[in-house]
Amino acid sequence: MRLKDEVVLVTGGCAGLGRAIVDRFVCEGARVAVLDRSVAGLEELRAAHGDAVVAVEGDVRYLDSHKETVAKCVETFGKLDCYIGNAGVWDYSTALVEIPEDRLDEAFDEMYSINVKGYLLGVKAALGALYASRGSVIFTVSNAGFYPAGGGALYTGAKHAIVGMVKQLAYELGPHIRVNGIAPGGLGGSDLRGLKALDLAEVSLSKVPLGDMLKDILPTGQMASAEESTGAYVFFATRSETVPLTGSVLNYDGGIGVRGMSEANRGDLLDQFYSKGALV
Ligand code: NAD
Repeated sequence: MRLKDEVVLVTGGCAGLGRAIVDRFVCEGARVAVLDRSVAGLEELRAAHGDAVVAVEGDVRYLDSHKETVAKCVETFGKLDCYIGNAGVWDYSTALVEIPEDRLDEAFDEMYSINVKGYLLGVKAALGALYASRGSVIFTVSNAGFYPAGGGALYTGAKHAIVGMVKQLAYELGPHIRVNGIAPGGLGGSDLRGLKALDLAEVSLSKVPLGDMLKDILPTGQMASAEESTGAYVFFATRSETVPLTGSVLNYDGGIGVRGMSEANRGDLLDQFYSKGALV
């Protein structure tokens, strides 16, 4: 048990990677607070882990949800050692040319308020507790935090912003609180949803044959499952192993960055749209 007596808060802990992190951290002896908007998912967590979890319903777009979760975490477990910003949505690689003009504002706001502001508000709410415990922050990034073609401009821009926040917050919060990121690639066992503003809220990554799509691209030859991707989170949350570690982001993506170019660009989409006169 590598995380005995540690207390962790995970956003988006009801599905996919977040749920795998909760399960693994409980196995490693941690107690875990979860903020998620899925009522059914929170019930499942309580049934699975009992007193080892505090499950709070809320939305990461709102500071009050984060404050409530941190307060319940500290009230129940006495402290908070590690804050994991993880809840996110995808744009299903929707290209800019494909986003209708009248949806762009809303889509941008939705993406950035969940995937970027959701992390920032969480750290803001947890600052006092993390200062008291001399704790740490872990952000789930993505291969899209480093490379194109892991999403559209909305998702890729948002994930790059997280890399910037890791560095800036590591600078601002050191030496008291360490801040790092983990950038997974495509994951098996994910229910990742799309943007409501693009009518993609009910689309789930679980229905996409991602494993088949990635197996010939990844140097590892296979997509990792959410469970197989929890080891780095345990490592980053283990105080004794990570004394010198802050401001870093681990590429944890099956080697996507060394795969070479899968396609030169997506300019053919512009040809399709404008030659048909669709958006002229
Ligand atoms: P998932 O949909 O399986 O789980 C996300 C959880 O977050 C769900 O329980 C959902 O209810 C919750 N959530 C979403 N929006 C919320 C909100 N506004 N407020 C509160 N809770 C909210 O997704 P996942 O694949 O596990 O993704 C987790 C993280 O991993 C995301 O940041 C995602 O960008 C990143 N990621 C995923 C992949 C992948 O292939 N699935 C790859 C790289 C990075």
